[in-house]
Amino acid sequence: MTLLRMVDVGLRFPDGTEALQGMDLSVAAGQFVAVVGPSGCGKSTLLRLAAGLAAPSSGEVHRGADELAYVFQDPALLPWRTVRSNVELAAELRGLSKAERRDRATQALELVGLTEFAGHRPGALSGGMRMRASLARSLTLRPDLFLFDEPFGALDEISRERLGDEVARLFGERGFGAVFVTHSVTEAVFLSTRVIVLSERPGRVLGDFPVPFDYPRPPRLRFDERFAHLAGKVSECLRGGVQ
Ligand code: ADP
Repeated sequence: MTLLRMVDVGLRFPDGTEALQGMDLSVAAGQFVAVVGPSGCGKSTLLRLAAGLAAPSSGEVHRGADELAYVFQDPALLPWRTVRSNVELAAELRGLSKAERRDRATQALELVGLTEFAGHRPGALSGGMRMRASLARSLTLRPDLFLFDEPFGALDEISRERLGDEVARLFGERGFGAVFVTHSVTEAVFLSTRVIVLSERPGRVLGDFPVPFDYPRPPRLRFDERFAHLAGKVSECLRGGVQ
């Protein structure tokens, strides 16, 4: 099932800034599309269009997803609520029954490895754990499409890799669709089934690289020769070379 389809999408802001041009993108269940590109090339704009938070100036955006999750760099947890009650929040706002949201939160906390921290306040957690809580909150709604806007950009390298391992595992188990914006080529290749490289603004697709590695992806994949070769090709494209 196609969860997201963009056809020849362009976006020009009212002040004349052209953020995206001729964007074609299709995401089905079981496809994890990583998007890399220079700062300001339109990556966040692409996600906002995908989420329906912005309308294209030209072209079409079709959304087939029933439930969509948008994960940002800021985990946006309420400091006065416990981790569990933060994780329950999305389901609570959705009006799910108390028993149902408890069940879903318990399962989501387990999935991200936060069960024993359920009673803590966010202030007592590391940055990586706060991001796990944010992921767990999204998981409670059982989204079929995840939109990630540089979710691990503020974390140190080790936490970032661990979270990457977790997301790759969750994806391998659940097979949702995803668009993952990142500055890190290694992260893009490690997580995805496909990496798209965007040009300087207005963002256009410069390169489109299928990623052939099976899931589950072991952390050591990052040191594999074939991985390094593919990451090198993506980096070269990002630096303005050809695919
Ligand atoms: P990225 O996520 O790749 O860093 P963005 O999608 O946030 O880039 O922004 C793309 C370009 O559009 C940038 O040059 C940004 O300054 C510009 N931009 C973003 N929002 C607006 C807006 N509301 N009006 C005018 N220009 C904007």
